[in-house]
Amino acid sequence: MTANSQGTIESVLVENRVFPPPASVSATARIGSMDAYRALCQEAEQDFEGFWAKRAKEHVQWTKPFTQVLDQSNPPFFKWFHDGELNVSANCLDKHVGTPVEQKTAIIFEADDGAVTKVTYKELLARVGAFANALKAQGVKKGDRVLIYMPMTVEGIVAMQACARIGATHSVVFGGFSAKAVNERVIDAGAVVIVTANYQMRGGKELPLKAIVDDALAMGGCESVKKVLVFERTASAWNKVEGRDVTFAEALAGQSSDCAPVPVNAEHPLFILYTSGSTGKPKGVQHGSGGYVLWAKMTMEWTFDLKPSDVFWCTADIGWITGHTYIAYGPLAAGATQVVFEGVPTYPDAGRFWQMIERHGVSIFYTAPTAIRSLIKAADSDAKVHPRNWNLASLRILGSVGEPINPEAWMWYYKNVGGERCPIVDTFWQTENGGHVITPLPGATPLVPGSCTLPLPGIMAKIVDETGKELPNGTGGILVIAKPWPSMIRTIWNDPERFKKAYFPEEMGGSIYLAGDGAVRDAKTGYFRITGRIDDVLNVSGHRMGTMEIESALVAKTDLVAEAAVVGRPDDMTGEAICAFVVLKRARPTGDEARQIAKELRDWVAKEIGPIAKPKDIRFGDNLPKTRSGKIMRRLLRSIAKGEAITQDTSTLENPAILDQLSENN
Ligand code: ATP
Ligand code: MG
Repeated sequence: MTANSQGTIESVLVENRVFPPPASVSATARIGSMDAYRALCQEAEQDFEGFWAKRAKEHVQWTKPFTQVLDQSNPPFFKWFHDGELNVSANCLDKHVGTPVEQKTAIIFEADDGAVTKVTYKELLARVGAFANALKAQGVKKGDRVLIYMPMTVEGIVAMQACARIGATHSVVFGGFSAKAVNERVIDAGAVVIVTANYQMRGGKELPLKAIVDDALAMGGCESVKKVLVFERTASAWNKVEGRDVTFAEALAGQSSDCAPVPVNAEHPLFILYTSGSTGKPKGVQHGSGGYVLWAKMTMEWTFDLKPSDVFWCTADIGWITGHTYIAYGPLAAGATQVVFEGVPTYPDAGRFWQMIERHGVSIFYTAPTAIRSLIKAADSDAKVHPRNWNLASLRILGSVGEPINPEAWMWYYKNVGGERCPIVDTFWQTENGGHVITPLPGATPLVPGSCTLPLPGIMAKIVDETGKELPNGTGGILVIAKPWPSMIRTIWNDPERFKKAYFPEEMGGSIYLAGDGAVRDAKTGYFRITGRIDDVLNVSGHRMGTMEIESALVAKTDLVAEAAVVGRPDDMTGEAICAFVVLKRARPTGDEARQIAKELRDWVAKEIGPIAKPKDIRFGDNLPKTRSGKIMRRLLRSIAKGEAITQDTSTLENPAILDQLSENN
């Protein structure tokens, strides 16, 4: 709980457990101590531009060197290395030619049904070259937008890399999205080509993709689209629109695998990616080329301390920013061997992740708290899918991303997956950041469960009040980044005004990046802890509390609670009242049982945090409303708590039926 002028409350999250980096990791890490970390921070502070110039030369191959590092002449439209030229795909593939990486496995692909295919860097370069030529043959030119609506497959990554190779800007849309979401994104981006698959395989089911594209295009407004390229993932029939639809086989027939990478300006838009929509209508976040690929590669080495022998596995989908930076670009730019997984963590059972780690000898594993929480729930109810059933000795570093990880889930991950020997890098970042911004470094940072610890060198993260004034450690406030960084969002596609308003508010001077998250720094260590979205701060009788803290207290009741989401609703007496939506580890209770468990949970929270944090309402559900990337959509829960009809954008909602269940009184 955050302290404020009206009072300080001791929190369940005054976390005293500290886990120093294992000596074995520190010994060989690029950044192997806090002194080494602080030296880098100091270097960035003393000569900010020089610091980034040095990294940009070290990590990126330029076809035309830059002469200016940072152009701040038109804030907040910052430009990095802007007179330099490069090609991002060449920085991921061509640069390995003639090195030992060329023959190395780039991708270990495991299909939904468990079939494994391996692709070397050399083969990947040839496949990207051929697909790039196919795109050109379909009329795609530098600067055109290509919408990619693909399953998690090698082909999806090839399509992204091929766009980068010819200077086309891709916009990947997650394969779970509806026709309406595809339609809106096609129109907003002005896509000329859509790359899709006939079907996708997820959890043993064959699900249509191409049919959804047909529906999306039939909704109108998509005249920009000239061709639809269709990867035939399965043998099942699909409806081919003559003249518009082209199969991959047709498009690739006779194409040479040689395609010279097109040099682009450092600021050239590599991609547009729509945010997950947790807080509102998705925004088309536009990223550049030079600063982005620098960040993707550098953070593979800083945050994951990637070694040539590592097997890296990021479980995200290429439809999210994590799948862009830490599947499609970062691992390739860093020359890693990575696992790419088509399926879902619970098929054929909830042991799939652990089985795959053992099977492929994964050494760096990067996943999301939502996955961890659901696998904890599964392991608690079925011992056969507990990670202890597999040999996970290959693991050396674990990562978390996407939401705050509550300390209980952190501890479970640390013990049961990492065998108490693997540092967990709790990486805080956003679509808009391009890559990690606040994160532990595995060989340097002592870990505290639930804290993303400290900013990367050169990231000037601060906690401020509404006017932009920096707050002392121990005081909760608004997270900002006070200086630009190379992989930052360049604008919102088609909406520079929204870009300025959303991220660089005038009240704070117009050039400080507002993350939209609340955070608090530990009074002693200065460690950051994310307390939730700015609009997720509650004010109950004058006490300010982050929803995250009450959620963590609820989830700490490990015998009962699997997941919890907390929101506020207006209350005459207390200003705001706390409403908790809870998923239990057992079946959803009703009637007397529900009332009795609700009382038990209220008493628990009172004991853990204080009576002020007791939820007024507790509702039970089989699940919570989540975005398709697995994040809890608290904005919808706020409407339910208030008893309002939901009129907001729900295009990114995974499980609409849950809204009705939670709206029932129980
Ligand atoms: P929208 O901006 O459309 O509401 P979104 O913010 O969920 O959607 P993303 O860019 O995918 O879209 O997610 C970034 C957000 O995820 C962060 O602002 C933060 O709230 C949360 N987040 C990500 N990683 C962490 C982490 N390690 N700890 C705490 N929060 C995290
Ligand atoms: Mg966001």
